[in-house]
Amino acid sequence: MNKDLYIHNTISRKKELFEPLNPPFVGMYVCGPTVYGEAHLGHARPYVTFDVLYRYLQFLGYKVRYVRNITDVGHLVGDGDSGDDKIAKKARLEQIEPMEVVHRYANSFHHNMNQLNTLSPSIEPTASGHIVEQIETIKQILENGYAYESDGSVYFDVLKYNETYDYGKLSGRKVDELISNTRELDGQEGKKNSVDFALWKKAEPEHIMRWPSPWSDGFPGWHLECSVMSTKYLGEHFDIHGGGMDLLFPHHECEIAQSNAANASDPAKYWMHNNMITIHGQKMGKSLGNFITLNELFSGDNKQLEQPYSPMTVRFFILQAHYRSTLDFSNEGLQASEKGLKKLLNTTKTLQGLTYSGQFEEDVAKTEEKVNKLMADCHEQINDDLNTAQVIASLFELGSVANSVHDKKMPINALKPETLEKLKEHFKVFVNDILGLQEEGADSEKNEITEKLVDLVLQFRQQAKEQKNYAMSDQIRDALTAMKIKVKDSKDGVEWSYE
Ligand code: ZN
Repeated sequence: MNKDLYIHNTISRKKELFEPLNPPFVGMYVCGPTVYGEAHLGHARPYVTFDVLYRYLQFLGYKVRYVRNITDVGHLVGDGDSGDDKIAKKARLEQIEPMEVVHRYANSFHHNMNQLNTLSPSIEPTASGHIVEQIETIKQILENGYAYESDGSVYFDVLKYNETYDYGKLSGRKVDELISNTRELDGQEGKKNSVDFALWKKAEPEHIMRWPSPWSDGFPGWHLECSVMSTKYLGEHFDIHGGGMDLLFPHHECEIAQSNAANASDPAKYWMHNNMITIHGQKMGKSLGNFITLNELFSGDNKQLEQPYSPMTVRFFILQAHYRSTLDFSNEGLQASEKGLKKLLNTTKTLQGLTYSGQFEEDVAKTEEKVNKLMADCHEQINDDLNTAQVIASLFELGSVANSVHDKKMPINALKPETLEKLKEHFKVFVNDILGLQEEGADSEKNEITEKLVDLVLQFRQQAKEQKNYAMSDQIRDALTAMKIKVKDSKDGVEWSYE
């Protein structure tokens, strides 16, 4: 197997051969969503991109620990150090608990990610579940002299850090320019310098998401959670850190600073950033009125949409562009993807149905050569910084050979029998396993039946309990547990989840 995977490393600004720190293990951290609303088109791109990387690394035989966090506290409106917490604001608007907001939108996010056929990460830690660790890291940074306390808040001292390290090495920004470019904004009281950022914020009296700390009742700064959770689960120095380009500065720049200040270690060897999705050439944003959620995209319920687009169409649309180039949303683009996907999946099916007959014809050996070359190309293209766009183009070319054979325009014995088998396997591996494309509803139908069955079994268990047949009720629970279905009894009834 060809393990020569090259990826573009944002920090070195060039393509580099991927060499894991501790093969066969690979640690990968991707910044997850802040769960205060439904996932939108902009969320689909990073998680599909890094899903393909996750799948491909596993295909190469690596044992990958993929950590993707859930931000449930500390991300303030405006992405800065002042203002409301995004989740608390939503909670106030909807008159529910902040943790209800988190639960609702985390569930909705997971549902969308399943629809897009992204694999679940290995660990999905939350910021609120790691307050203690974040406080410990702040103490460490203070002790090392790279932060200062000011009226109950703790700020990272960027200038002090920049004396020893290079703040801006990821984004290419310079501290001097940053200082002269920052206007004096609200919430900078207490900061020595406008470029400094919060590690801990003292909570205003009306702020509901708050925890005790040595400095004040407050909450951690948004950038800190990723440094703390990546260190906890992947170590001080790990392989890959990924995310959208919009996170490059300040979020990822601050992560590097925090890790160096706390552990004297750069967090990741490779930094990878996907480019943005634009809508008719414009950035997507709520204020611009061109915002499209994934649920709207899948249902067609948005005035910018001419029709609904299936999750697989959206996945295919994303993969038809290289992850580092911009991708412009348009109905035409998605409609073309819908057709392309259908063709590719049909070819995959057609190919699996082909059976060999006759003897290999040497005089048509050119086809044999062409097919082998195109299959080798797919490996080279995915190795070339995950060029899924070119992989798909090669798959289409291969598909046209398969379709010609199927339509009897070309004899099947233009290929060697073993090449036909290789081609079948190649399609399965690339289309299903690496690109993660599958027939629409391939799993969801099955899932729906499973869910109904589990609900039914739990009803029987409830009846057994009511009849005081505890042996039966325990037997049912144990059987479900053996199937990795976790049953939880609460005073409001019974809940279940996959383990
Ligand atoms: Zn992050």
